Amino acid sequence: MFHIRTMALFVMCALAASLGTDAPANPDAYTANMDRSVKPGDDFYRYANGGWLAKVAIPAGQSSYDTRAILVQKTSQRVRELIQEAAETQPVKGSPAQKAGDYYASFMDQGGIESKGLTPLASEMARIATITDKVSLSAYLGTTLNTEVDGLTANADHVFGVWVNQSFTDSDHYVFHLMQGGLGMPDRDDYIDPSPKMAGLRSQYKAHIAATLKLAGIADSETKAGRILALETRMAQAQAPDADAADVFKQNNPWKRVDFSRKASGIDWDAYFASAGLTGQSNFVVWQPSAVTGTSALVNSEAIDVWKDYLRFHLIEHYSSVLPKAVAAEHFAFYGITLSGAQQPPDRSSDAIAATNAALGQEVGRLYTHRYFPPEAKAAAQAMVGNIIAAYRVRIANLTWMSPETKKKALAKLDALTIGLGYPDKWIDYSTLDVVRGDAFGNMQRAEAFNRQRNLAQLRERADPAEWRIDPQIVGAVIVFSPNAEFFSAGLLQPPYFDSHGDAASNYGSAGAGIAHEISHSFDELGNIYDAQGRLGHWWTADDLARYHEAAAQLVKQFDGYCPLPDLCVKGKQVLSENIADLAGLLTAHDAYVLSLKGKTDVVMDGLSGDQRFFLAFAQRWRKAQTEAALRRQITTDTHAPGEYRSDTVRNVGAWYKAYGIAPRDKLYLTPENRVAIW
Ligand SMILES: [Zn+2]
Repeated sequence: MFHIRTMALFVMCALAASLGTDAPANPDAYTANMDRSVKPGDDFYRYANGGWLAKVAIPAGQSSYDTRAILVQKTSQRVRELIQEAAETQPVKGSPAQKAGDYYASFMDQGGIESKGLTPLASEMARIATITDKVSLSAYLGTTLNTEVDGLTANADHVFGVWVNQSFTDSDHYVFHLMQGGLGMPDRDDYIDPSPKMAGLRSQYKAHIAATLKLAGIADSETKAGRILALETRMAQAQAPDADAADVFKQNNPWKRVDFSRKASGIDWDAYFASAGLTGQSNFVVWQPSAVTGTSALVNSEAIDVWKDYLRFHLIEHYSSVLPKAVAAEHFAFYGITLSGAQQPPDRSSDAIAATNAALGQEVGRLYTHRYFPPEAKAAAQAMVGNIIAAYRVRIANLTWMSPETKKKALAKLDALTIGLGYPDKWIDYSTLDVVRGDAFGNMQRAEAFNRQRNLAQLRERADPAEWRIDPQIVGAVIVFSPNAEFFSAGLLQPPYFDSHGDAASNYGSAGAGIAHEISHSFDELGNIYDAQGRLGHWWTADDLARYHEAAAQLVKQFDGYCPLPDLCVKGKQVLSENIADLAGLLTAHDAYVLSLKGKTDVVMDGLSGDQRFFLAFAQRWRKAQTEAALRRQITTDTHAPGEYRSDTVRNVGAWYKAYGIAPRDKLYLTPENRVAIW
């Protein structure tokens, strides 16, 4: 159900599947999107989705199309309308609508931005001009410490980033996770890779630096650009390789405050931490020690003037979206066209919406949920998840591959799991953030300062696993293993995945199975290195692991047998962990659906029983149109199997056979001993 991005403490998920655009509450949806001429036992995916597949067209310029794409588009449009409405009316000063509306309107006021020229940068430029030595350079770097990073950030926007989160060993307190940063190109390999292609990219980046400096009237821009690129290249050489990012144990490097001067000489750390507002901070977790050591050494070895030019360039770059058109255009020429292959910039309003979301995520979230995800929807989702957790309790207790002592730990972890649905119970209080119409630059600067203050203030608070990690208006979900918490946004919990007024059987088969899939990751090979409090530590025994792999081998074989193209079959091993989660999610969501019925029989809708609608909704989730090239790419590189085969997970579930009267003559039939039972 979900696309998954795994790195360190996080699994970022976004719905990847398809149910068509019709809400399950509409009985015609079943008929319109199905192909009832196909026997469910022969091809369940086409029985469920044939109607939709016959009429869908992949939008021009894209290689695939599915429900997620449809929902992202629909939700973005809703968010856009909410923000634009707020900008056009005159909401009460200080209200979420005032802040979002004025932020947007100011960003859109290109005439006003143009007339100010680069004067908004003046005070910051003056501060850079006063840098004369290592101490004043260190102090300035401290002011740029960026808090808009998290466990998924490979390279913070400024020299270092801080992510305030619980530690790897202590779940009660927030700690200071220091992350590498400072590169203008996205990745360290962009600087190091010797291939001609990357060398070409570097010369284009150098030209972009020079052009940006020139726009700011900085003399000798070509020479300075070369020196800035050289400085960044040295930083990149000290950064940790991407491969390390997948290994969370490499990031758990506790440093005391005194360690910085000892292990990373160069930066005057007293000056750095004082100006960062962190004089009293004594404990840190340094994710990439080599980057801290290496970057700090560059403060010693590189000329102060090169550092000052580097800081000037990054200052302009950082604020390019709220500076005159020529600066924004130069930024787009490199980041949009050269790096991302875009043809033309998105219209200003799309950038303005994105900027408003980035600065005021939960204020926009309040506007969104107020209109589209009322408390009743949240309550309905909570009731469904309550049944899923109850079902997991029984499933875990009955697992055959998990030893009794491991089951105890798993059940404790399940009890401690925080699940956020729709929107936070406690919203961020933005009351100290002033958003002023007509001051796009100041708004961005104040919003960043607000977020930084808020994050750093958390260092003095008790860690709160219920702190939201995704904005409600995003179509997506996040699993945070540390702390032990998962969040499913209001943008995700909407039809056709979830309809609080709709058919429960469909809700459980669609969003329910997706949520249950994600929960299973906390208990599988992704989650088995984090305990009930999200602290690092293996909690499976070696025997658990061996029995788990033994049980999984049959699922590898099952998926190896799916060959959508004459020369290409699914790689069962590559997609195994997601298939196990699909199976766990489907089984557990079905148990939960049965629990929700409290012994009653569900109604028949459009000729379909509750169980039939449950499995139908599951299969409809996987609906996706894609080009052959996209299919080939997915099979070769993705850890998720093509939707059709994920839909065929039903073959392992006894209740599906019963619901649809599947018999040995049917093509999808598996003998009971060939049905995989891991969960
Ligand atoms: Zn998954």
